[in-house]
Amino acid sequence: MTHSPSDLLPDTESEPLASLLRDLQQLVELESPSSDALAVCAVQDVVEGWARAMHASTHSLPGGTRQFLFGAAEAHTDPAGSERPLLVLAHADTVWPHGTLDQMPFRTEGNRVYGPGSYDMKGGIVGLFAALRALDGQYPAGGIEVLLTPDEEVGSLHSRPVIEAAARRARTVLVVEPPVSDSHALKSGRKGVGQFAVELVGVAAHAGNKPHEGASAITEAAHQLLAVQALADVAAGTTVSVGFLSGGGAVNVIPAQARFEVDVRVSSLAEGERIDAAMQSLRPHDGRVGLTVTGGLNRPPFERSAETMALFERARQEAAALGFALTEEVVGGGSDGNFTAAFVPTLDGLGAPGDGAHAAHEHIRLDRWPDHVRLLTALLRGL
Ligand SMILES: [Zn+2]
Repeated sequence: MTHSPSDLLPDTESEPLASLLRDLQQLVELESPSSDALAVCAVQDVVEGWARAMHASTHSLPGGTRQFLFGAAEAHTDPAGSERPLLVLAHADTVWPHGTLDQMPFRTEGNRVYGPGSYDMKGGIVGLFAALRALDGQYPAGGIEVLLTPDEEVGSLHSRPVIEAAARRARTVLVVEPPVSDSHALKSGRKGVGQFAVELVGVAAHAGNKPHEGASAITEAAHQLLAVQALADVAAGTTVSVGFLSGGGAVNVIPAQARFEVDVRVSSLAEGERIDAAMQSLRPHDGRVGLTVTGGLNRPPFERSAETMALFERARQEAAALGFALTEEVVGGGSDGNFTAAFVPTLDGLGAPGDGAHAAHEHIRLDRWPDHVRLLTALLRGL
């Protein structure tokens, strides 16, 4: 069955699909890799224009985050307020380098709209603004604060303090990262994420004449790498993967240099501490090789809590009233919700449904998107 665009139009409560698509095209065609601050700014500028058109007050915060305050949220940047604002988190950066549009142009095919950053998470930004417009100036008590950050895809180093400060004065946090791939599932928990690098410095020597005078950094790396991978504990929800390895120079030299990098995901803080302690206590097998470990847990786990499940239950009921079945899942990937879930009720996955985050087939499902915009509208109005 084929749909003409008008079959897919959401009702008058949210923006027509044509307008969602127009806004999405505008953001997707502004490529915004995390590494290019000016390119990320260009996306933030467009969104700030949308916020201003709705009479939000807009601010540039330290570290490159933009803040948009709707309704009474303005009064609550000082923490003495009675009603706390609803905080919504979004990011303007993507994992895609400049030039990606040449290979992956913005395009619609049937029910899918493709493009770099469409699903993660420019569609989330566009859907959020459609939902805000649908409120038509009727904001909840306490108002709505939106943060549009520049560096989520590289660990949110600069935006983390701003996010945590905003979360401390908020009563609820909604994250417009996309729902779980190819589903109507929100994200009710996320693993904590860590990255480590292990650097090995051995002793170079001629591989044929005097190998005994050398100490191989690569052999040492091989020992350490297997020990590190053995720290994984599937039953406890802990994954450990060496995703990068380099070393040596010329094949006839005992290698003096090697390095590998490790991706770690944990379901609990206790597991994060266990891995961190094990990484810090790595010692070389060959005493002539120097071993240095850097890195650590950069996002704490977002543990599935009763508060989050109460928020999810609200969302599930709203979705049922809108005619679709909403589910929830704990996922391995981190988001800025990991920073807030420990101290304020947080619900994630309220962006645009689709599939292919960080992959060539990244897309949004047009047949499902309007339902999710309506759901977000209902939550912004009612929470
Ligand atoms: Zn994202």
